[in-house]
Amino acid sequence: MPIQIDSTVTLNNGVEIPRFGLGVWKANQQETRDSVLWALECGYRLIDTAQIYGNEAVIGETLQTSPWKRDEIFITTKLWTADHSKKNCLQAFDKSLSKLRLDYVDLYLSHFPVTGKRLETWKTMETLLQSDRCRAIGVSNYTIEHLEELIRETDIVPAINQVEFHPFLYQKELLQYCREKGIQLEAYSPLTHGVKLGDPTISQIATSHKKSVAQVMIRWGLQHNLVVIPKSVTKNRITENSEVFDFSLSEEEMKTLDNLDENLRTCWDPTGTP
Ligand code: NDP
Repeated sequence: MPIQIDSTVTLNNGVEIPRFGLGVWKANQQETRDSVLWALECGYRLIDTAQIYGNEAVIGETLQTSPWKRDEIFITTKLWTADHSKKNCLQAFDKSLSKLRLDYVDLYLSHFPVTGKRLETWKTMETLLQSDRCRAIGVSNYTIEHLEELIRETDIVPAINQVEFHPFLYQKELLQYCREKGIQLEAYSPLTHGVKLGDPTISQIATSHKKSVAQVMIRWGLQHNLVVIPKSVTKNRITENSEVFDFSLSEEEMKTLDNLDENLRTCWDPTGTP
């Protein structure tokens, strides 16, 4: 069955996550309200926010008044780096839930592998998973070393590792490692945060499919079996980014795109974080 906009993948605890969603980093209140509604109208079923984005409350408000039922939408939020440790993590989770006006989040991520605190935080997140207020827990910006430590020192293998991933940052070893451990990789900044949207090699491939560079980048991530969460606050781009299920990239095109890797990081670089 070919992948579609509402296709899901089953996480290591049995929860299903949509393969495609909307990111809302840097979207202001009005932009968040509009983009979430436009995306849901288009068929997006996953919204990716975070405590630090400052738009959980407007998402909560928007969802409450939207026609979609709670179980039709997958909501991810993230614990900010300043709120690691047991007490802070529990308080931050409560606050996020209350801002989102939800009884539960579908996925709670630790935003970054904070030195000296991440294990205590993860053990706290494990307890959240035992409650009925959180369906899955995961991490973000974790390297193989961080994951190895987590798996060695704690009980629950993360369901997700959300990392920067696009043709210019093709993290092949991390992808392979996560696959072996049953951790689903989720691609953030799949459009390189806008930096490489004029790339000539991708343009050529895009033209041959009558698609845009953004659509090719998203499709590349989907064909690598990632969960992909492009951000846009522009209505026609939100639609455009969702029109990636009616074409596919050949093996050769995938290889050409893989070869664009230049270790380009447009956001965090967690490499070497002790
Ligand atoms: P993306 O790679 O998704 O790129 C977003 C940029 O591309 C915006 O400037 C947007 O402009 C533009 N854009 C979107 N679609 C198109 C299009 N079709 N044509 C041309 N331009 C387009 O960047 P993000 O860094 O926002 O990553 C996506 C999401 O991933 C975030 O919103 C967030 O949810 C998550 N994330 C998580 C991180 C983490 O540490 N866990 C870190 C970074 C991101 P406009 O909006 O003006 O349309």
